[in-house]
Amino acid sequence: MKLDLDFQEKFEQRHIAPNQQDTASMLETVGVSSMDQLIEQTVPAQIRLKNPLNLPPAKSEFDYLNDLKVVASYNKVFKSYIGQGYYDVIVPGVIQRNILENPGWYTQYTPYQAEIAQGRLQALLNFQTMIVDLTGMEIANASLLDEGTAAAEAMFMQYSLRKNADAKIFFVSEDVFPQTIDILKTRSAPYGIEIQIGDHREVELTDKMFGAIVQYPAGNGAIYNYADFAQKGHEKGIKLTVVVDLLSLTLLTPPGEWGADIVVGTSQRFGVPMGFGGPHAAFFATKEEYKRSMPGRIIGVTIDNAGNYALRMALQTREQHIRRDKATSNICTAQALLAIMAGMYAAYHGPKGLKKISERIHGLTVLLASALNELGYDQKNEFFFDTIQLELGDLLNSIHAEAVNNEVNFNYKGSLTSISLDETTSLEDVLILVKIFAKVKGKTIHDLNIAELKSAVESQFPSELVRTSSYLDHPVFNTHYSEHEMLRYIKSLEAKDLSLCHSMIALGSCTMKLNATTEMVPVTWAEFSKMHPFAPIDQVGGYMQIFNELNNWLSEITGFAAMSLQPNAGAQGEYAGLMVIRAYHMDRGDHHRNVALIPSSAHGTNPASAAMAGMKIVVVKCDERGNIDVNDLKIKAEEHKDDLSCLMVTYPSTHGVFEESIIEICQIIHNNGGQVYMDGANMNAKVGLTSPATIGADVCHLNLHKTFCIPHGGGGPGMGPIGVAKHLVNYLPGHSVVDINHEKSIHAVSSAPWGSASILIISHAYIAMMGGEGLANATRYAILNANYIKARLEKSYPVLYSGSAGRCAHEMILDCRSFKSFGIEVTDIAKRLMDYGFHAPTVSFPVAGTLMVEPTESEPKHELDRFCDAMIAIRSEIEEVENGTADKVNNPLKNAPHTSAVVTANEWEHPYSRQTAAFPLPYVAAYKFWPSVGRVNDTFGDRTLICSCPPVESYAEEAV
Ligand SMILES: *Cc1c(COP(=O)(O)O)cnc(C)c1O
Repeated sequence: MKLDLDFQEKFEQRHIAPNQQDTASMLETVGVSSMDQLIEQTVPAQIRLKNPLNLPPAKSEFDYLNDLKVVASYNKVFKSYIGQGYYDVIVPGVIQRNILENPGWYTQYTPYQAEIAQGRLQALLNFQTMIVDLTGMEIANASLLDEGTAAAEAMFMQYSLRKNADAKIFFVSEDVFPQTIDILKTRSAPYGIEIQIGDHREVELTDKMFGAIVQYPAGNGAIYNYADFAQKGHEKGIKLTVVVDLLSLTLLTPPGEWGADIVVGTSQRFGVPMGFGGPHAAFFATKEEYKRSMPGRIIGVTIDNAGNYALRMALQTREQHIRRDKATSNICTAQALLAIMAGMYAAYHGPKGLKKISERIHGLTVLLASALNELGYDQKNEFFFDTIQLELGDLLNSIHAEAVNNEVNFNYKGSLTSISLDETTSLEDVLILVKIFAKVKGKTIHDLNIAELKSAVESQFPSELVRTSSYLDHPVFNTHYSEHEMLRYIKSLEAKDLSLCHSMIALGSCTMKLNATTEMVPVTWAEFSKMHPFAPIDQVGGYMQIFNELNNWLSEITGFAAMSLQPNAGAQGEYAGLMVIRAYHMDRGDHHRNVALIPSSAHGTNPASAAMAGMKIVVVKCDERGNIDVNDLKIKAEEHKDDLSCLMVTYPSTHGVFEESIIEICQIIHNNGGQVYMDGANMNAKVGLTSPATIGADVCHLNLHKTFCIPHGGGGPGMGPIGVAKHLVNYLPGHSVVDINHEKSIHAVSSAPWGSASILIISHAYIAMMGGEGLANATRYAILNANYIKARLEKSYPVLYSGSAGRCAHEMILDCRSFKSFGIEVTDIAKRLMDYGFHAPTVSFPVAGTLMVEPTESEPKHELDRFCDAMIAIRSEIEEVENGTADKVNNPLKNAPHTSAVVTANEWEHPYSRQTAAFPLPYVAAYKFWPSVGRVNDTFGDRTLICSCPPVESYAEEAV
């Protein structure tokens, strides 16, 4: 027997599901003789890449992790006392393993299909309840991207709600974290909002101000009482946003009790690792009366068709189109998974546990302060929670050197140094800090009486700001203390939700592909998860290497000169890219260029982002084949040639087609002085075959949580880095704390310099293990899988739009509008799919009344077949309604989804069988996924909006 010593495990064969035999049979069904022929018929020749991607050879999973361990060792995990919005945490093991590291949670999609998403909806409702309780506000959303952008959203909400149209000034306390101020600068500029930075104790409030923002405790650690400030502001019509430290609110009077209108912040220190900047869930809480202006998603309580408690995303009509150019926010992907973790952390510790954690942090900080005081140091903060501030004068350098010797980091800012303690800080840690400070003064710890100092520790809060109100009283925060209870609670919620662990989720435009375990593993390695984003650059060599490589690889893939890894989601990338274009025009003296041309088929975030970048939106028509109407584009580009800023175009189009006129389209824009922004959501149809630069774009974002394998996490995290052509590199986003600035950088778009840095590793792993040819093959298979589904389904459902050779790209639109004439809506099909064990494809985007299907390369043929079989079976059910065999109202489609309670009830009053209801095809029996509630009632929930956990009894009464 000859033995193959060169055998190498290939990750590509794990990621791309169809095998050789299946490929042959799929190509045959599609009607082509080879993969090459299919690609020739699909991707226009003039935009195809001439050369394969120049990327390093693919690594096996085993080799990748071994090599990455070495890279990880270039990150030095010092103990971080830097604070500034990022704190080390103890992630409860039960949460780390069963949520953060669990595909049952992290491969979920955004909970649009509520009936198979009740678990995460409940977990997010817990998060909202926690935020409402701790902040003392009335209503909270289910997360935002980070603290800085949450503050910017707050500023903008205050601006939209202003009564006096002339009020253009936004007062910003100088003690707000610098990275937050940076983002406020970015976001205010396009609207002509004037940022006035100053001391809240001295500023003169005027009616030219529409809003103000302060931080509590302040960025320097001091606790101020802002009650008077809030009241004086209100007298002048000025609304107040308060950025808070969530943990401190277990001890401090919450802003809701002293006059805040909006409260924002991050929930990072509720058990979510720092991860060198993210991902973490920010929050946004406000008053009931502003609920319709609140950005982000809100989870609300409603009932299902049997009258039972059910949850769903509330006020969805508000979000559906993100209100296009009337948008007040472009938030789409947020931070669901991290919000879920933070809510679980609160459920695990409960109000008493959280209070104990806060008290210990505060107590140790007081001890540290008094020890340093004894040593003769000048501590500035009269009142504080976890942060002290020192004027070190001449001793600064010696303290710094001694701190490095002891592998600890402080926050150095000019002559002031601050030290922030966290949940992981022990008494021993505090003694190490005391020793450092003693040594520099030529003393030792024995010169102090630590025992005496310890016994004298008292809280250092202004007496009127000691919290007296209770919080987290709901049973959900008071029952899961034992690990078994917590484990079972997490598992019981997980069991209600359909994820990629169960079946394919063929969401058009969302690219629900494999999130490989090997890609996920490093995210929780300490070398990556315990890094503070503002750690000195010489301690973060591992991350720098990963960013450099990722920057080079993504540049190669897009054909661009450089990337910015800062934007935390696709829509943030859009915004960043448009701001870069804006800066480019301004720099060239073209201040007036502010028109964005956007095709009518664009995703709602496109016009929303353009509006946020201060642009005027001009809509370009699409023709009957779904392509951009080139004539209309030309007319509008010429009409606006003096003030044209850019075109925003999704390619391949949101209709799933490679438009052949794309090069001409880009030329028209350039000829009229504009730039081309490409929305990269559909990059999974392009990688390795064509590129944004090849079609003529100047900027594009990549949704790393679509094309590059970051899991969707039930609605976030995500990453939306942007790539730009050479002439735009100088304008890429900078940062106010970490120097990543180019010559003419725009201000930051995210709190952290490299956004949600820790999950960039996932995309790095994917590219490294696929290699150039593997990535191109993934694209080929994404196209094959889509065309296979198209071939199998087009006799049952008309496929809207295809290329000139009849091919779709990586997704297709199934037209369901004709069923409406006999009462079947596209929603009925979406809900009926649940009975067959599937999550619906994208409903009504980009065309109302249709389904958009995107299978991705990671689905094997037999899974595609199961899905097609279900769709075809549903088509026969529709036909029975059409020809009158089935009842118009009482049929499996209208009653879908069927819960186990309904199917096993003693009463059964439907003209079809229980088996038809729950096991409509033989394969369903092998693995049945039961929706946990019947069809949810949206209008009921929106009428009486309940966005935090209702007391169980009160709810039962109401529903009756
Ligand atoms: C997903 C998507 C976006 C928005 O991306 P997020 O990461 O959710 O912000 C924008 N455009 C298109 C076409 C998309 O599919």
